[in-house]
Amino acid sequence: MVHWSTNIKYAKGVGPVKANLLAKLNIFTIGQLLEHYPRRYEDRSQLDSIRDLPANGVSTFLAVTVSSQETKPRRGLTLTKITVKDTTGFAQLVWFNQPYVKKWFKPGLNLIVSGKVERKFGQVQISHAEVEVLDGSDLLHTGRIVPIYSASENVGQRWLRSLIYQVLEEYTDIREFIPPNIVSEFDLIDRSMALKLVHFPESEKLLEAARRRLVFEELYLLQCGLLWLKRKNQQTSQGIKHSTDGPLLAKLTAALPFSLTQDQKAALSDIKVDMEDTTVMQRLIQGDVGSGKTVLAAIALAKTVENGYQGAMMAPTEILAEQHYHTLAQLLAPFGIRLAVLTGKLTRRTRQEVLARIKDGLVDIVVGTHALIQEDVEFNCLGLVVTDEQHRFGVRQRALFQAKGQMPDVLVMTATPIPRTMALTVYGDLDVSVIRQLPPGRKPIKTYAVGSEMRQRIYTFIEKEIKAGRQAYVVCPLVEESEKMEAKAAVQMYEQLKTTYFKDIPCGLVHGKMKSQEKDIIMNAFYSGETKVLVATTVIEVGVNVPNASVMVIEGAERFGLAQLHQLRGRIGRGEHQSYCILLSDNQNPETKERLDIMVKVDDGFELAEKDLILRGPGQFFGVRQHGLPDLKIADIVRDTGILLKARQAAQKTVADKEHFLQVQPLLTERFGDYFGMIFNN
Ligand code: ADP
Ligand code: MG
Repeated sequence: MVHWSTNIKYAKGVGPVKANLLAKLNIFTIGQLLEHYPRRYEDRSQLDSIRDLPANGVSTFLAVTVSSQETKPRRGLTLTKITVKDTTGFAQLVWFNQPYVKKWFKPGLNLIVSGKVERKFGQVQISHAEVEVLDGSDLLHTGRIVPIYSASENVGQRWLRSLIYQVLEEYTDIREFIPPNIVSEFDLIDRSMALKLVHFPESEKLLEAARRRLVFEELYLLQCGLLWLKRKNQQTSQGIKHSTDGPLLAKLTAALPFSLTQDQKAALSDIKVDMEDTTVMQRLIQGDVGSGKTVLAAIALAKTVENGYQGAMMAPTEILAEQHYHTLAQLLAPFGIRLAVLTGKLTRRTRQEVLARIKDGLVDIVVGTHALIQEDVEFNCLGLVVTDEQHRFGVRQRALFQAKGQMPDVLVMTATPIPRTMALTVYGDLDVSVIRQLPPGRKPIKTYAVGSEMRQRIYTFIEKEIKAGRQAYVVCPLVEESEKMEAKAAVQMYEQLKTTYFKDIPCGLVHGKMKSQEKDIIMNAFYSGETKVLVATTVIEVGVNVPNASVMVIEGAERFGLAQLHQLRGRIGRGEHQSYCILLSDNQNPETKERLDIMVKVDDGFELAEKDLILRGPGQFFGVRQHGLPDLKIADIVRDTGILLKARQAAQKTVADKEHFLQVQPLLTERFGDYFGMIFNN
């Protein structure tokens, strides 16, 4: 008997060869075949008569075959023509180089035909029509709302459609796993019905109901996973109970070079309440670039140290880890707190030394990259882990990091203001504090979108700013998925600027293909003000903090998403100087113009993030290189916000009811086990 997880090769008519082809579409099991949802639909349910077939557009009609004819007008070209008729007229169905179609059509067969109609020399002609013989069996390819799948050269639409139909017919074991109280409260149609209808809808309305059920199901499963994680953490009351602030915290707070903003204070108070409780803190601090999250991390880390624990902070890039290390050291070292940095670039020996000191408790705070979650990193007594995410780590990495200690508190910081729905999808297991306000005295950045005819003037302007003591970034175009090409473009830009406009100005170049040591030297020269212009790829996107930099030129600005442009722009305007962001683009596309115009007008990161998500969709929002999103097969987190909120409500109920959760668990593991990186045991 076939099951949801049965290998697809056992389905009738598949076998090992076809199974390999299906594997290329990421279909390995019966369940995955059924979850290979249509990419779109074509309504071929309206019937016309041949005389009234509209020119252009796809139409559908019933007809009877009259005759067929095969000609070879040229070498290598076989033309198959089948003449059909109805009571109103004749039509020619034409195929090029598909001689096998001929054998399907004996004279006198009843057909249903869909295709694009052309009228030539008074004749109705349809090339490569979709045809089905009316033999009493269900219509799959025409005469209905027809599903269109992502297929491939070797897995055709027709074959895939028939296979899915057959599996749906034969496979009766599609069980309902959403608990009955949820099914009725949220008015969901039955699972097996929904799967049938989503592939072979009988009407638009039923299709909508099927889709709603399946979107709900997917988001509900995901939310069950996230909320279960959250609950598990809350219920283990063996979390660390930090005590209320002692003398160290008091001294540190008094020594801060500024007073915290209201939003920072509120977030800090959330953090303290969580840390002083026995449950495990699972908190996300969401704040715009430059809103001052790092200082909160510093205070929280000091708090855990004051309580006799170690703290650790993980950042997505080496540059950022180094920078956090310096910021934290500056704030905390004066109080005798011992810090260390752990990145991939340490020599074996230094690394061993650092690891030993961490293990022996001779280090209080470790700042690092992914290197921190490697197996050989052992802590003495870890009390708090902070991840500065920029949405690059997923649930799994967070869990690995946390597992370095005995239920340490967890603080996650993200600088891209993530729209609410997105946050529920990626950070649904966390409590959220938001910092909206920027520290006082920041001058809004002036942003301009211009074409390359302004180049000369821009560079003259940069020169002027540098003479006034400032520094500038020149950001090179994004080359998605090729760091190598991106680096090459950056090198070219650097060479060109250095030999022309900026002959007399010290310039630096940094890109992702450089060795760490090289990057360090370049970044340090820019931090110290030795170099005035930094030509860079998006490696500087996250976190880099040089308050003296006041100009940023972004080349090929059309290639970036709004959220990413906002991140980049966040590198300037970090000090007291008026700052300028210049978006260079010669792209005349109205959509591009509109997008860049939004950047010019809007400086609120949350607003930009919402707009970006709507304009470009979630895939683009996170970019190809950075993602923390689970793979969703049918839900669209931009469109399906309403369903997401309902699914979360439902998941809350289910997770609170052990019996119900157990019922959902197998499918949850099967569907999102990879994402969560664990089995949902109790
Ligand atoms: P982000 O939230 O992007 O990580 P940072 O923590 O890097 O922001 O802070 C940006 C800058 O603002 C830093 O130079 C920091 O010292 C400064 N800063 C943070 N909080 C305040 C505040 N309340 N008042 C003034 N400056 C602040
Ligand atoms: Mg930061």
